[in-house]
Amino acid sequence: MVHSDPPAAITPELLRRIATNATPLREGDKAAIEEFLGRTPRGLVGVGARCACGAPAVTVTLPRLPEGSPFPTLFYLCLPYLVREMSRLEAEGEMTRLNDALAEDEDLAARHVSAHASYIERREFLGHVPELEGVSAGGMPTRVKCLHALAGFSLSVGIGVCPIGDRALELIGWDPHACHCEQ
Ligand SMILES: [Zn+2]
Repeated sequence: MVHSDPPAAITPELLRRIATNATPLREGDKAAIEEFLGRTPRGLVGVGARCACGAPAVTVTLPRLPEGSPFPTLFYLCLPYLVREMSRLEAEGEMTRLNDALAEDEDLAARHVSAHASYIERREFLGHVPELEGVSAGGMPTRVKCLHALAGFSLSVGIGVCPIGDRALELIGWDPHACHCEQ
């Protein structure tokens, strides 16, 4: 791996290399995320994407948590509206449909594999964790297991990298220019 050492500092440039929409933590982000998730976020280094109002929508987390455990999920949804909408899609059986689509559509399956590689490449910027070798999140590279992880990935990196996350956002009619905090 090229970038195997943990970064000395989480700079805005580093976050941009990880994801187009990623921004450093601002005052109030940690408290907001804590309220959204109902727990203290561990290993939090940035916000992958924000609601139109600026509220954190996706967390960016270190691949090794401060107490030492490996953590594969670089991007995860925290904005309640998005968390709820992805849970709704999952409850409505959307994951089965997406897994069927992956099995039937070779091009989609290939793009899902590429998304997996891109995810790992981005996470490596935050340090190489041997236990996570070849591991991404959300069911990649061959399955769909968590729409929250995949949609968080899509929101952070922008449309065109993670086709399943893109599709999930399309299904809920996600509008990046609207505030979703009151819903
Ligand atoms: Zn908002």
